[in-house]
Amino acid sequence: MPAALDLPHRRAGGLSWPVVSLGLWQNFGAATAFDQQRRLVLHAVDRGVVHLDLANNYGPPPFAAEESVGRLLARDLRGRRDELLITTKAGYRAWPGPYGEHGSAKYLRASLDESLRRLGLDAVDVFYSHRFDPSTPLAETLGALERAVRSGKARYAGISSYSADRTVEALHVARELGLPLTVHQPAYSLLNRWVEQPGTDGRSLLDVAHDAGLAVVAFSPLAQGMLSTRYLHGVPADSRAGRGGPLRPEWLTDEALGHVRALDAIARQGGRTLPQLALAWVLRDARITSVLVGARTVEQLDENLAAVSQPPLSEQELAAIEPHAVD
Ligand code: NDP
Repeated sequence: MPAALDLPHRRAGGLSWPVVSLGLWQNFGAATAFDQQRRLVLHAVDRGVVHLDLANNYGPPPFAAEESVGRLLARDLRGRRDELLITTKAGYRAWPGPYGEHGSAKYLRASLDESLRRLGLDAVDVFYSHRFDPSTPLAETLGALERAVRSGKARYAGISSYSADRTVEALHVARELGLPLTVHQPAYSLLNRWVEQPGTDGRSLLDVAHDAGLAVVAFSPLAQGMLSTRYLHGVPADSRAGRGGPLRPEWLTDEALGHVRALDAIARQGGRTLPQLALAWVLRDARITSVLVGARTVEQLDENLAAVSQPPLSEQELAAIEPHAVD
């Protein structure tokens, strides 16, 4: 097995990021035995996947993923905290009422304090605004991030799923607050190319992020598992769609599955699996700093990591892929 440091890193936003990161959105809650979670996280860290991406609401239910990582940091990963990049977010519903979601300073501050308590840490590496909140002034949301950095509770600040236009605005407000933004976390995959669409000033989110020197950590690069062969013959009971997770069975249309089938054929011709092709495709763009995979098993993670040591996609492969890389 390769040593941890064999996993390449890309540097952006003032930080070095492994090209593959592990997200703990779905497979780190009540439905997954702690031992299985533990095996996956420890394996990831051993393989050099030192970036663990969290949010207050991950598990499910909310808080569960942070509690699991807190347990691991106190035991198996004791003494290794500084080898890791631990990120968390607030923005989606974490508790009832108006102060339990969105972008108010009250919510963000309370949420970060609770995240730190669950993780047993003094600081996270990145604290994100998880989504743009049209009902809260950006200066308030970003002011809460600035305060988190200034107080030492977060080392860096990030935003997630802000459009190209909102990112331009956020960069402006952050500059006025004296807050360096480090990273943007958007969805990006062969089935979701919104980050390439131009905003009002003609630049895409990828352009805006690149111009500002932000790291871009791409989430759901496998479209929640659609970019695999799992759904080509129905919906397996143990799959995210089969378990009633956030991948809706109605998204598995004949049209979408037609593209998946075609992409799978291209992958096999090139000696890759479909998840490996999907990850290589996202990473083909040097503006992408890391792909944030949500592997559920050690086997899935290893298959995904193998993408990194394969040759980059050839011009022919890219051309064959293009008609099937859709929104
Ligand atoms: P992926 O697109 O990687 O989907 C993960 C799912 O794909 C797994 O649960 C598994 O599905 C399937 N899968 C993974 N690897 C393989 C493989 N090799 N072969 C077959 N199936 C595979 O990412 P996620 O949607 O989970 O998102 C990743 C992370 O991104 C999250 O954990 C979170 O950290 C972040 N995120 C951020 C958001 C934001 O708003 N900022 C929103 C969503 C995610 P199955 O369980 O069916 O086996």
